[in-house]
Amino acid sequence: MSLFDKFEKNAALLDQLSAAGKNPFTVVMEEVLGPTRAKIKGRETVLAGTHNYLGQTFEPRAIAAAKEALDHDGTGTTGSRVANGTFAGHTKLERDIADFLSMKNCVVFSTGYAANLGAIAGFVDRNEDVVLIDADCHACIYDGCQLSGAETVRFRHNDPESLDKRLSRLDPKYNGKLVCIEGMYSMYGDIAPVKEFVEVAHKHGAHLLVDEAHSFGVYGETGKGVSEAEGVMDKIDFYTGTFSKALASIGGFMASNHPEAEYIRFASNPYRFTASPSPSTIASAGAALANISENPAIREKLWENARRLHGAFVQFGLRLAAKPAPVISVLLPTREDAFDAWRFLLDQGVYVNMAIPPGTPGKESLLRLAVSSAHTNEDIDRLVAAYGALAEAFPSARVDGAA
Ligand code: PMP
Repeated sequence: MSLFDKFEKNAALLDQLSAAGKNPFTVVMEEVLGPTRAKIKGRETVLAGTHNYLGQTFEPRAIAAAKEALDHDGTGTTGSRVANGTFAGHTKLERDIADFLSMKNCVVFSTGYAANLGAIAGFVDRNEDVVLIDADCHACIYDGCQLSGAETVRFRHNDPESLDKRLSRLDPKYNGKLVCIEGMYSMYGDIAPVKEFVEVAHKHGAHLLVDEAHSFGVYGETGKGVSEAEGVMDKIDFYTGTFSKALASIGGFMASNHPEAEYIRFASNPYRFTASPSPSTIASAGAALANISENPAIREKLWENARRLHGAFVQFGLRLAAKPAPVISVLLPTREDAFDAWRFLLDQGVYVNMAIPPGTPGKESLLRLAVSSAHTNEDIDRLVAAYGALAEAFPSARVDGAA
């Protein structure tokens, strides 16, 4: 008996995949050549499995701001937000995000993961409160529920009626109720009916948290997310997001219009017991935020690219998970198909993500393409050619070829 016994099953599979050069979990970006290109296995590859939705990783303003912060404030804060780790940059970014979202306050955490973990475990009391979560929520929302220790109830994915039923049947003993959903879900690229969720949650006296990790900067008229697209920015209670996608940095945040939400700083271990983000990551996130809010053309380009790719994939007859979105997933019936198809695309010079159960919501395995506004016409042409070849080589990836 050993702590390592549990690894045996996966270790055998991973060793076998690595031997066949089909292990998507050990890819190394040997040299990064730009926002959408890197050398992988010695070959220049188009990156379509990053969450660099707005192509900000090499934005000159963000790089200049990060360099200046390094020179001015040093490499790290060496402390948590509640000790020595709150610099002027952290509080400025909190104000900037709150202003961008037109919300009253904002709390910056060290990652997007910590923001959800910290918000849920900070607000929810294990003895008094209850959390209700969409079944397809990200691992950090599940982990936040576990850390809170409170009763957790799942409702059917993107189904406000299912939430309504669960809330109606709750034991009246609960004091606070927190409902958690996401804006755009990252596996399939489908979006939540946030407006209906707001109505249902508030009808039952619950608070609503929307994780817009993938939709911040991407959805809505001014990039505020799916909540803006649904016209309910002023109605959601807690808005969580990350700096690691549209802002191409590291860190996360929770914004709110409730003045009391600020007290999370004193109640949330993932806020108070971890070092704060480094000055340079904060500076680049702030510069990227300024850049994307001043240049809506960046978001428009992302959507143009997404529509072009989605349209081409429909023409190829590929089995797609959702409507045009910045995440375009092709469904495959088995995980073996997914490993082979993933390697096939890499051989075509295209890197995408691969996901298999239990990492996917259903029983599906999938290839996930994340579109970037920085994808050039040449990148898009290469992606279209590679997926055209995929549709030929893998009938199981097509609507007419699926088992
Ligand atoms: N929420 C969602 C929906 C995510 O997909 C992720 C990460 N992919 C996170 C939160 C965590 O963000 P981060 O990687 O910045 O910690």
